[in-house]
Amino acid sequence: MQSFQPPRRILMGPGPSDVSPRVLAALARPTIGHLDPAFQDLMEEIKAGLSRLFNADGYACVPLPAPGTAGMEAAIMNLLEPGDRAVIAINGAFGGRMADMADRAGAEVIKVEFEWGQPVDPAKVEAALAGGPVKVLAFVHAETSTGAKSDAAALCALARKYGALSVVDCVTSLGGITVDAGAWDADVIYSGTQKCLSAPPGLSPICLSPRAQTAISGRTTKVRNWLLDFNLLMAYWGGEGGRTYHHTAPINALYGLHESLVALFEEGQQAVLVRHARSHEALAAGIEAAGLKFLVEPAHRLPQLNAVLVPEGVDEAAVRAYVLAKWDLELGAGLGPLKGKIWRIGLMGASSTAWHVRLCLTALCEALN
Ligand code: PLP
Repeated sequence: MQSFQPPRRILMGPGPSDVSPRVLAALARPTIGHLDPAFQDLMEEIKAGLSRLFNADGYACVPLPAPGTAGMEAAIMNLLEPGDRAVIAINGAFGGRMADMADRAGAEVIKVEFEWGQPVDPAKVEAALAGGPVKVLAFVHAETSTGAKSDAAALCALARKYGALSVVDCVTSLGGITVDAGAWDADVIYSGTQKCLSAPPGLSPICLSPRAQTAISGRTTKVRNWLLDFNLLMAYWGGEGGRTYHHTAPINALYGLHESLVALFEEGQQAVLVRHARSHEALAAGIEAAGLKFLVEPAHRLPQLNAVLVPEGVDEAAVRAYVLAKWDLELGAGLGPLKGKIWRIGLMGASSTAWHVRLCLTALCEALN
């Protein structure tokens, strides 16, 4: 074997996004023990940083030691017990994944489905919630498979109204558009590190409201998943009365997350959102000037994930292969029913700059001409 040297790429797909040199440098710092007092200080800073970023004061916030899917799995497996009823909104690939997990948890799953590219319609969700007692309402805030944004405030309010706990997937939204656990009164809200936080994949920040924590500690059956059982995890991350060994934290990955949070707060949370909005506006102007169209209506578009329709007669995969070979530029393909029909252009985190927009438009237009 020889050392692996990755090719240099510009990451403008659905994630991972470009990781900044300062985060890469942080990842390479010396590994220390996960029970070292210095590492425990870092854990506390990360918890506080996540609470600030999600606006989740009073919530338990921790980074799970696995990718965004772990946040989803933790939310579903900790809240649902066999026989519970769960309403899952599905407007793309990730809502479908949540429904599959809820089914595996032994819950009765009520799927509320929407055409891919549309936001979740709160009226349809309300009709499902009104049909009987529901333990959990789960939805995706920013559907990465389509580029559609749903109204998290309205959906969390519906969960409250019907006595359900809300599960909000913010894997793609956190750091790109407003995420406000406190104002939404969300119950379990999670993200991933490889999208708008621009750290490498492999961690899933998650926050639980006091209501969600009470529901989990009051379960009558064990959480089926050991690693992600919050009753066990919080003895490691909780901080009160010392830490109990649970797993070995991914130490260097947490240096990277910490550095990405430092960078984000240095730039300013509002400034970061404005940068994402401006990058999207610039890209949209270029896409439309090139005669291309978006899948999603302007009101529901995510600035950080742009789903562009492939024109008639154009080979979608050949265009992506061209820009990768010629420009070292990674764009995303469509999933499921959108396979071959869209390109997914990410403008996430460190990949959301005027330079990225210019490069992408130049490369795409060259490939199409
Ligand atoms: N939820 C959404 C909305 C996502 O976009 C993704 C990944 O793209 C996930 C969940 C799963 O995250 P991961 O691939 O990090 O496990």
